[in-house]
Amino acid sequence: MKRPEIEKVWQYIDDHREEYLALLKKFCSQPSVSAQSWGMREMAEIVRETVSSLGGNGRLYETGGNPIVYGELNYGRDRTLMLYNHYDVVPPEPYDQWETPPFEPTVIGDRIVARGVADNKGSLLSRYCAVDAYQKVYGTLPINIKFMAEGEEEIGSVHLGDFVRSHMDMVKSDAIVWEGGSKDINHGPLQVALGVKGVTCFELRCRCAKGDMHSMNAAIVPNAAWRLVWALSTMKNEKEEITIDHFFDDIPPVSEEELSYLRGFEYNEADMLKAIGKDQFLCGLTGMELKKKLYLAPTMTIQGIQAGYTGEGAKTVLPAYAFCKIDIRTVMGQKPERVLQLVREHLDNHGFSDIELVPGHSTLPFRGSPENPLAKAVIRNVEDVYGMPPAIHLNMAGSNGMGFLCNLTGIPAVCFGVFNDDSHCHAPNEYIFLDDFFNGIKLSAAVIHDFAEV
Ligand SMILES: [Zn+2]
Repeated sequence: MKRPEIEKVWQYIDDHREEYLALLKKFCSQPSVSAQSWGMREMAEIVRETVSSLGGNGRLYETGGNPIVYGELNYGRDRTLMLYNHYDVVPPEPYDQWETPPFEPTVIGDRIVARGVADNKGSLLSRYCAVDAYQKVYGTLPINIKFMAEGEEEIGSVHLGDFVRSHMDMVKSDAIVWEGGSKDINHGPLQVALGVKGVTCFELRCRCAKGDMHSMNAAIVPNAAWRLVWALSTMKNEKEEITIDHFFDDIPPVSEEELSYLRGFEYNEADMLKAIGKDQFLCGLTGMELKKKLYLAPTMTIQGIQAGYTGEGAKTVLPAYAFCKIDIRTVMGQKPERVLQLVREHLDNHGFSDIELVPGHSTLPFRGSPENPLAKAVIRNVEDVYGMPPAIHLNMAGSNGMGFLCNLTGIPAVCFGVFNDDSHCHAPNEYIFLDDFFNGIKLSAAVIHDFAEV
């Protein structure tokens, strides 16, 4: 499809790759580790300046935590697009596993390596640079833009809810470009995600005695580690089935529409297996069964488990206390309060009333539609930019605040971005391909153009 009005902007983007790459390096050089309160103000200020340089009058809104950067480009158009992003990153540790320093962005061959380059500074800038390029070419935009970037996404978006509830007028828009977004591993299709799974996190705490004891007492005193393991083993079996009583009661059966979107893309099993160093997936999953599990089924994960002595050498100790952190990825129909209630009832009914359940953070699942104007504007342009059609996900396998925001405001959101499934997000040597960054700018520019029309 030849569309000269968009190609003019793409040409501008190609001509200004160095400038946009320099901006990406500037963003990634500034640490902004929310978990460690490291560099947050400085980063917020850089984002604010960038929003202002686009004409968006960037402002910082105090939240009680890290500020939210907000700005508006109001051209008096009919449609308004919100660009939601986050400027915080996860901690860089372990440092010794980085091949280049995490906050010294380094171009290596066809990729750029830095903490946050994939999650989420690359995607953030791909939208902002698109706004820049479009305005430079046409002196205006065919839509209004709202910029909103938070600095607490990686620590659970603790203040986003309050901000949205008390600034509904500012959040109001016709659609939201959601933060993040990736391609399948090894240059597979761009993923266009219209929804998310939810997540419900909690801890299970088990205390069996006042304090640790010599393990000779194991004959007569209960062991907290065993007790926790026994409780956990009633919640999921060796066939990987979640066995919490009534857990699946609220989940509607998979619809034909869902199946048809799953059939519409190929999951790159071979490259994914290579990346994780396995010959096969869990339970031998493959084809449609794999996709159904990954996108439509809930999961229950032990994030970590701790008890007794795990240091060097032997210590014959009888642990008095054990605890674990668990996340349950929820799907449509499931609600955090109900899931927690089911876990509580399950533990009680299986003789584990003594195990304490401590709720953690949770987000809601959300299922979007490919028929909303933003989704249409994205989907129609993917093949022109990437040379292959997108993989459309009614919901992604992961979770974020999209469910919360979309449920609260009724505004649809679409997630597409510049990393790939092997970008080492949250891990050492985080990277994106340079081409994916520039293609992300091009796709965003085309979306700005088409969102006015579809
Ligand atoms: Zn992240």
